[in-house]
Amino acid sequence: MRTLITTVLACMFAPPALAQQAPTPAPAQPLTAMPYSPSLDLSSLDRGVDPCADFYKFSCGGWMKNNPVPADQARWDVYSKLANENQQFLWGILEEDAKATNRTPTQQKIGDYFAACMDTASINRLGAAPLQPALKQIDALADRKALITYLGPLNRHTPGSFFFNAESTQDPGDSSSVIAEISAGGLGLPDRDYYLKTDSKSEETRKAYLAYIEQILKLAGRSAESAQKDAATIMRIETELAKASLTRVERRDPYKQYHKMTVAQLSATNPVVDWKEYLRAQGLESVTTLNVTQPAFQKEVDRVLTNEPLENLKAYLRFHVITAAAPSLSEPFEEAAFNFYSRHLRGVQQLPPRWKRCVRQVDHGLGEALGQEFVARTFSAETKQKTLLMTSQIEQAMQSEIEQLDWMSPATKQEALRKLHAVHNKIGYPDKWRDYSKLEVQQKDYFGNVLRVADFETARDFSKVGKPVDRNEWGMTPPTVNAYYDPQMNDVNFPAGVLQPPLYDPKSDDAPNYGDTGATIGHELTHGFDDEGRQFDAQGNLKDWWTKDDAKNFEERINCLRDQFAEYIVVDDIHINSKLTSGEDVADLGGTLIAYMAWKKATEAQRLMPVDGFTPDQRFFIGFAQWACENTREANSRMQATVDPHSPGFARINGIVTNLPEFATAFGCKVGQPMVKAKACKVW
Ligand SMILES: [Zn+2]
Repeated sequence: MRTLITTVLACMFAPPALAQQAPTPAPAQPLTAMPYSPSLDLSSLDRGVDPCADFYKFSCGGWMKNNPVPADQARWDVYSKLANENQQFLWGILEEDAKATNRTPTQQKIGDYFAACMDTASINRLGAAPLQPALKQIDALADRKALITYLGPLNRHTPGSFFFNAESTQDPGDSSSVIAEISAGGLGLPDRDYYLKTDSKSEETRKAYLAYIEQILKLAGRSAESAQKDAATIMRIETELAKASLTRVERRDPYKQYHKMTVAQLSATNPVVDWKEYLRAQGLESVTTLNVTQPAFQKEVDRVLTNEPLENLKAYLRFHVITAAAPSLSEPFEEAAFNFYSRHLRGVQQLPPRWKRCVRQVDHGLGEALGQEFVARTFSAETKQKTLLMTSQIEQAMQSEIEQLDWMSPATKQEALRKLHAVHNKIGYPDKWRDYSKLEVQQKDYFGNVLRVADFETARDFSKVGKPVDRNEWGMTPPTVNAYYDPQMNDVNFPAGVLQPPLYDPKSDDAPNYGDTGATIGHELTHGFDDEGRQFDAQGNLKDWWTKDDAKNFEERINCLRDQFAEYIVVDDIHINSKLTSGEDVADLGGTLIAYMAWKKATEAQRLMPVDGFTPDQRFFIGFAQWACENTREANSRMQATVDPHSPGFARINGIVTNLPEFATAFGCKVGQPMVKAKACKVW
């Protein structure tokens, strides 16, 4: 059930016509200190735009003009720009740790992982050789039974998704325990819709995908003839799997992905895989019950495993081994994967520089080791204390809003408040760091490191099964510029990376900070009550605590936003899929309002004065809008319209302020102007 984690900002985009071409930048250098930019940036404004006509453009027009999308990015926004600076800062740390002689065990691991990744001469010399052990094992599978049995070790030890996945999950019905889960997978395109849509762009993408499969199979040693034939087979198998997969909108319903059963029951309904043997291969031999996210999908897997000729199944496995490994192999593999997944699907022009890919790799594999170094240098006790205080103030504002609702019954209110009071606030970094001592990292063996890291992570994940939930665990690394709410943990998580200027600015007064980071905190808290989150109780159990009437009333409120956001266009003639984005849209509207209330309360004893010609209320809203400034590539917008539960940046600002009378008052906007809706939607 990991898909339930709802992040604040994973993806943002703007009307593509406004995207600019980037000039060639000077080669980057490691940063020794994080650059400063203020949380309210006057140079980001476009004063030629009337804030009551287009508040997003008024707040971000200057930023958009000054910040074209760099050649190695799919989109460029305030968040990704800060993430890029974080990476540049981590680059310096890793270069130092790669060379230093007197290193701590943590510094040895991250330094050597980085150094091995930067050693492109060795990586290129090896070519396809690191793939050979896995490919040889697939070649040697003598019959169908051997192949099906091999799915177990493959899932346990080889990066990639082979038909379906096994992992651990918090039991939706009993959030105190961790169980094993079998989930749908096995697709090489970003979503099932890519296989099924009939428009010309989708047809074009499928052609490019076929060409990619063929190219990468040839790079791994298949003949041109076999590669072409295999590509068609793989596409056909994946299309069958796609048809049997739930849509992203269906996956927002947690009940649709909760089918707890015994291993005996699974074996009876899906007899093709020997599940006892499969679980034993994961080190989960004692598991007797588990969750199966998509039983109908598993039936299709059984059908494919039964009906496809052995050679076809081998071709499918081979491709998934190769494509998962491609970004960690020599240049031709890396370029092939980049050309399809980044250039074709997202419009990126250039492979990011090696240092950047290697920093990301270390963050991805050893995030809490690298995170320790990051936190020690960037995250002050003062920021932690101030943002914790802000979080509790926003929780109080939320409490007042819930208490005052005229449509919610006392019974539901009581449960809502119980849930709010149980939210665990996690700020900056974990209380206890992950232990990497058993992970071996070698300076001269990049691919080996990648495999060992993946193996270490899978072992760590499976070791949780059957044990009580560790509520201190984090799902994001400390340098990450993002935040999330997890409905099963009932916690909000703000990594140190997101609590920095310009998003949280310790040098600034409260107005823009509450508008920006405050609204993000409000956003995450509101996720606990969005269309998905509201189905979980204070302990994180999937359990209905709403009266029928209250649920109906609340769904109507969500529908108001669904109708509004469905009108916005992402790119071409593609509208926002507001059934997919409604959780995020609800979080934006509810979160911004409670951040505003909390700011008012926190500053009620102060005599706030205008600054730079803007009133305090105006500065709150400009601070709010300026987190979302962005430019994006058209191709990326097209992909996000399919896969991203977040609305584009302009809609996340204009679609929210139009519903807030506090905004209209602050800027003197009147009914009839674009930024004022005749009938506002309300969450609270
Ligand atoms: Zn969110």
